[in-house]
Amino acid sequence: MEDLRRVDQEVFALVQQEEQRQAHKIRLIASENYVSAAVLQATGTVLTNKYSEGYPGKRYYEGQQIIDQVETLAIERARALFGAEHVNVQPYSGSPANLAVYLAFLSPGDTILGMALPHGGHLTHGSPVSISGKYFNAQSYQLNPETGLLDYEAIRQKAIECRPKIIIAGHSAYPRILDFPKFREIADEAGALLMVDMAHFAGLVAGGAHPSPVPYADVVTTTTHKSLRGPRGAMILCREKHAQAIDKAVFPGIQGGPHDHTTAAIAVALKEASTQEFKAYARQIVANARALAEVLMMRGYRLITGGTDNHLMLVDLTNKGIAGKKAARILDNAGIVLNCNAIPNDPRKPFDPSGIRMGTAAVTSRGFKEAEMAEVGRLIDTVIADPDNEAVQARVAAEARQLCAGFPAPGLEHIA
Ligand SMILES: *Cc1c(COP(=O)(O)O)cnc(C)c1O
Repeated sequence: MEDLRRVDQEVFALVQQEEQRQAHKIRLIASENYVSAAVLQATGTVLTNKYSEGYPGKRYYEGQQIIDQVETLAIERARALFGAEHVNVQPYSGSPANLAVYLAFLSPGDTILGMALPHGGHLTHGSPVSISGKYFNAQSYQLNPETGLLDYEAIRQKAIECRPKIIIAGHSAYPRILDFPKFREIADEAGALLMVDMAHFAGLVAGGAHPSPVPYADVVTTTTHKSLRGPRGAMILCREKHAQAIDKAVFPGIQGGPHDHTTAAIAVALKEASTQEFKAYARQIVANARALAEVLMMRGYRLITGGTDNHLMLVDLTNKGIAGKKAARILDNAGIVLNCNAIPNDPRKPFDPSGIRMGTAAVTSRGFKEAEMAEVGRLIDTVIADPDNEAVQARVAAEARQLCAGFPAPGLEHIA
């Protein structure tokens, strides 16, 4: 980054500091990852200079000889990897992808049914503060208060009662596998379209470590930068009969020119996600989550649903006498980065909830296996057991750094 250093010392220094942070800390934020050096390089190319409103073969500006091939490559790779009839790779991120689906199928005031935000749903699934909750009649389903699990019979009842045009399955904080055939059945019974938002677990689907929603859903949205390990972006996968409605909703419905450098990096990430190595990666993400969950439960932590089937877990800290926000802050001091998170029926406020969420996609990318996850669990417990002891936090930060040193992160191999 010689030119960046010369032109802008300040930004260069900040990027360097962020590289250090990502290299030396144990990153457990469930939505984050480390992309490969190849994905980083594709993101930083001259493709950012191009304007290409429209779709391959149907553009509004000239000079698309190369860009058409880049976008077609990304589309074809996504179709092959996920077995989808049609794919749009242009959404700027997960939120606009979801908005495009609503624009394609809904009018203002129409009813949607999604998982409640405090129960693990996403803002864009109908939260009152989101456009999805302001412009549509957003109804929500919740987790069973006893089990912390999705209650499909309750979802069915709710769907029959409110007759949504779209039922949304998908989450940002649910540690179990979703029953897509069941969601399909409910959608059919209620006369609704089924939209699955697989933003969090798309990498597991790509690697065969989570069932695929594609055969069951009318539309599947996903970010490309979480477990799928690509650049920041999104895709919409759908049946051929919805292709035109989806494409029109993305452009010109809510977006202008696609980010072609991102499209190129998505193509690279999809190539990587089609390999045997990625299958092993996806399986290891799940094995690592199980290993961390077991260590924590052995040490008396209460996991929502009693464990995990995917890449993430949600921990209720009530019995440990510490709130989520403080736990997240002291762990960050100790070189372990995660976020506080509401638990089902949380008695506390969303900004300082009772739980923490953690995921294993990023640490698995740097090569952590079950043994390292056991070590991570021990470090977490050491910090939480003595929450006001800054010396303990400093000691654990050194141990965390030591642990990371043995596993250089993708894209950061040059960091000592
Ligand atoms: C992260 C996420 C999104 C939104 O993605 P952004 O890229 O942050 O806009 C949408 N849906 C779910 C379920 C997510 O977890």
